[in-house]
Amino acid sequence: MSQPVRVRFAPAPTGLLHIGNARTALFNYLFAKKENGTFILRIEDTDVERSTDASIEAILQDLRWLGINWDEGPDARGSSGPYRQTQRLSLYRDHAEILLGERIVYKCFCSPERLESLRKEQLAKGMMPKYDGKCRSLSENETAKLESEGLRPVLRFRVGKGTVVFEDLIHGRMSFDTNGISDFIIVRSDGMAAYNFACVIDDHAMSISHVIRGEDHLSNTPRQILLYRAMGWQPPVFAHHPLILGPDRSPLSKRHGATAVSQYMEEGFLPETLLNYLVLLGWASPSGEEILTLEKIIESFSLPGLSRNAPAHSRKKLEWLNSHYIRNTDKDRLIQLLLPYFEKAGIPISAWAPEYLAQICLLLKENLSVLSQVEEYLGIFFDQKFSFEEEAKAILILPENKNLLQTILSTIEEYSEIKEDSASPLLRQLEEKTGRKGKPLYGLLRAGMTGKMKGPELVKTLPLLGKERMVKRLKMAMELS
Ligand code: GLU
Repeated sequence: MSQPVRVRFAPAPTGLLHIGNARTALFNYLFAKKENGTFILRIEDTDVERSTDASIEAILQDLRWLGINWDEGPDARGSSGPYRQTQRLSLYRDHAEILLGERIVYKCFCSPERLESLRKEQLAKGMMPKYDGKCRSLSENETAKLESEGLRPVLRFRVGKGTVVFEDLIHGRMSFDTNGISDFIIVRSDGMAAYNFACVIDDHAMSISHVIRGEDHLSNTPRQILLYRAMGWQPPVFAHHPLILGPDRSPLSKRHGATAVSQYMEEGFLPETLLNYLVLLGWASPSGEEILTLEKIIESFSLPGLSRNAPAHSRKKLEWLNSHYIRNTDKDRLIQLLLPYFEKAGIPISAWAPEYLAQICLLLKENLSVLSQVEEYLGIFFDQKFSFEEEAKAILILPENKNLLQTILSTIEEYSEIKEDSASPLLRQLEEKTGRKGKPLYGLLRAGMTGKMKGPELVKTLPLLGKERMVKRLKMAMELS
């Protein structure tokens, strides 16, 4: 019987969840779902200086918001916990003792200064920096003496000669000559397990079947496989996916704009947009469809289907997907999503009729590629936010438009009210009376009554404004100079 599928996402809680890491989590989640496996969330917080509880909380929250739910994790029951590495230190210590006893690892007392000058020397000679093995053959006496002097060693793995070969599910056969691998540190001088070591112990103890992670970890994998060999354990299957690049094809970073999931959330991207977008970065559905529900993605997802080429982030595509999801969100959810942005813009929503707010939301959804853009349009519907944009002003003050504004005003004044069924006849009447059509008329009407050059469909906007407000704004427009 083949081993049950167990995968893990193992973030270091040193900051916000980056979209690149969310994509790694998503690939693990999709693979687990597809294979009826288990998805584990493990917090790799051994860098105690930089890890924070707030970051753990934020990562959990962002994953939940995205709908990437874990079966086992720090807050969920599972048989292989605890799921925070700082709660597993004794396990690492016990294994380090075994490796030390078997002389698979050794104590190294080299100072950071020595290591730094060694590195510089090697680089100057055009060599690849590598630990020179000075402490490899220290005798027990020498070791004891150095320790009695108060020196605290690191534990280094004794890398032998040979090659490490593995089949990567995305990259195919990978081969590393151990000549290029330094005797790496498995326990730091403060006694804390280093990443490669803790990771292997945990992946084994948690019966992880597949390690799916970014290509930035490719160079760690041969080290980890050496550790598996030394322990006599079977390594998991590895899959290293390419990382997301910025539009200039350098690794995606803050200088390319937002990188944290929470930033996208605040700006008003929907979780389904981000999931859909992240999976499309480097993966295409066999049907070629781009708008995909999570169920659909799970159905057709496969790791070997991931491209080996690094995908470039495209804000335009992300916004395109988001517009789609905003337009297709059901009414109640849309309102729930948009109203907080009204509040944020200073509109006390409890003071307004729910039906009026709902109509505004339904109308504006067509204009939004992110939810927060709704704020730009609130001036149309709430007088306290109303003003004429500079471009609108420029049109309204044109001498040839002054008379037209007067004609528009007197036509509107003839109506008792502008309702849904009177907006179309009014616009037709204005075409006749002004002798204008299309943009020259509608641009002027829009500028005069919404203060803006673009916005929601006029015929639907006017009934929401109502006659009184239309008249008031036209009069204001006519007084502009
Ligand atoms: N803590 C590591 C990281 O965040 C995990 C890498 C791995 O998946 O092994 O990059």
